[in-house]
Amino acid sequence: LGIVFPLPPTVRTSAPRNHPCGAPQPGGEKRLRLARRMRIMATMTWVRNISTALGRGPLAVGLVLAVLILLALLSGPRVERYYLSQAAEEAVETVELHRSQVSGWLGRYRSAPSIYARHPKLADLLRNPDDPVRLDATNALLAQWSAGTGAEQTYLLDTTGLTVAASNWDQPGSFVGENYGFRPYFRQAMEGRLGRYFARGVLSGRRGYFFSHPVRDGGRILGVIVVKVGVDEIEQVMRLSPGEVFVSDTSGVVLMAGQPAYRQTVLAELAPSQRARIAQDRQFDTAALAPIPLTTVARHDEVEIVAARADRAGAPTVEFLHLVRPMGPEGWLLHLLVSTEEARRLSQATMVSIGLSLVVIGLTSLVLWQRRRILLDRLLAREREGVLLEEKVAERTKALSEEVLVRRAAEAELRQTQADLVQAGKLAVLGQMSTALSHEFNQPLTAIRSYAENAMAFVERGKTGPASENLARITRLTARMAQLSRSLSNFARKPGEGTQSIALNAVFDEALSLLSGRIERAGVALEVEGLDRDPHVLAGSIRLQHVLMNLIGNAIDACREVENPRIRVDVVPSGGTTTIAVTDNGAGIPGDVLDQVFDPFFTTKEVGEGLGLGLSISYNIVRDFDGRIDAESLPEGGARFRVTLKSAERPVKAAE
Ligand code: ADP
Repeated sequence: LGIVFPLPPTVRTSAPRNHPCGAPQPGGEKRLRLARRMRIMATMTWVRNISTALGRGPLAVGLVLAVLILLALLSGPRVERYYLSQAAEEAVETVELHRSQVSGWLGRYRSAPSIYARHPKLADLLRNPDDPVRLDATNALLAQWSAGTGAEQTYLLDTTGLTVAASNWDQPGSFVGENYGFRPYFRQAMEGRLGRYFARGVLSGRRGYFFSHPVRDGGRILGVIVVKVGVDEIEQVMRLSPGEVFVSDTSGVVLMAGQPAYRQTVLAELAPSQRARIAQDRQFDTAALAPIPLTTVARHDEVEIVAARADRAGAPTVEFLHLVRPMGPEGWLLHLLVSTEEARRLSQATMVSIGLSLVVIGLTSLVLWQRRRILLDRLLAREREGVLLEEKVAERTKALSEEVLVRRAAEAELRQTQADLVQAGKLAVLGQMSTALSHEFNQPLTAIRSYAENAMAFVERGKTGPASENLARITRLTARMAQLSRSLSNFARKPGEGTQSIALNAVFDEALSLLSGRIERAGVALEVEGLDRDPHVLAGSIRLQHVLMNLIGNAIDACREVENPRIRVDVVPSGGTTTIAVTDNGAGIPGDVLDQVFDPFFTTKEVGEGLGLGLSISYNIVRDFDGRIDAESLPEGGARFRVTLKSAERPVKAAE
């Protein structure tokens, strides 16, 4: 197909669609789009060209077939000529064969009379024609010669032409006593030459060739010896030949012929003078000589094509190749007629096979063309589908890239919002912390002040006992403040990047001391179980403290409306992990929000009370520790948060 309809250079199924490196080229998208357009246009042109060419397909096949049929018809005569030439070549061989056969046959007898004439018995008889002994002896001799050579008759004439002795002397129709003075062969011999003559026997009615020779006595001619050769044998040979073989004399009379119908015929009408001569010589029965004309209809190379009847009676005229060869000193012609029927039949058969081949070729071409068209249709459909698909892909890609852009913008906006919120959250946490700190510090400061005032009053009154008791209280309060301050400084420390073995006891101490104010105010009963075995986990202490404070803080908030608020913390090691479960009997978590509690900014608290960041931060912290955090709402009321961390060995120093 590529040869018949070369692909346009831009349409290559294997053409790289992207830059080989995959990296976008500068201005590449535009160029790609342009290239795609050009490719589509080239494809469509190609498709149109093919369709046009396809439309002419049957016409082209038809034209080619018509030309082939025309050529075949034109070559018809050429084919016929070829077969005629073949037949003519064979005919030439046949005619040459017959010429040599007839010549050989005649040669066999030509010299016989001149040899016989020398025999003394002949002259002897001619000198004494009435001697019965001599006559008998000569008759016997002639009969012996005839039988020996195969001649039809051998006979002896005297100078008048009267038959003195003959090989058939004892048979009915014997020549003896017959006068053949009218025969030209007699006259030729009497003139002293060899006589030759073809004629129909006067008595026998049988055609034959007469050879004669004078019988001499010294220089004097005593008589003539004649040998008549019958034509049966040679005609038998001619009859076996393929085609009609016959010999005609100078007048056109057929002397011998293989086919009986041709015997005693003339090839053309005889002139009156010829007719008179034949009648005078009694050569043939002129009344019986029927014309069997050969009409020349055409010539093929050197060979004549004639129309003739196969017999004298009403047989249809048939066309023959007519070959003629001159024969011997008599001026005879040897004819061979070979029917052209075989050659014509062969050429017709050849033409029929050529025609059939053309039909087969035509049908095959049509089938092939049809198949090619179907194939091309499929290719076209596929090509069109490919183009459509490409367009669709391009559209979709465009839509997707637009969507990506929108999403990216939304993401950027979200990030910005998040950052803003985190900022706000930080400020809020700062505010909360400030409030908590001022509360945490103000309370003991107020107490210290009143204890100091009391101590001063007791000192003034000289009551040192209660004064020192108040001072002791001040000391305790300052100690607690110092502890609070220490916790805060812990917060100020940057959270450790990695994790290490952390003693849960220490973490809980810190967290609970920081939360003690809130716990006290809320009147919550807090119970912590499982710390007596000094469990250690893999974590960062400040971050874990933050998580625990968040969980316990949330539990305190949840218990706000409850009569006997209780919070229970269970530390349970199991396998390689340690679970810290914070359970409260507060409001619990409604089922529909259970999945969202760890989402950033999810809160059910009043504005200003919560930011919804606590659990999400805790979640991330625990995840940093390679741990897990989950929440559940208890059927009996309240909620439980569980933090599962990897258990850790106690550090050597701490253990000591
Ligand atoms: P915030 O405490 O600022 O609201 P958190 O992330 O700490 O933010 O908590 C998110 C929400 O989870 C809370 O608003 C609350 O509705 C719910 N929640 C957290 N802990 C508990 C608890 N122990 N009992 C009931 N609800 C809780």
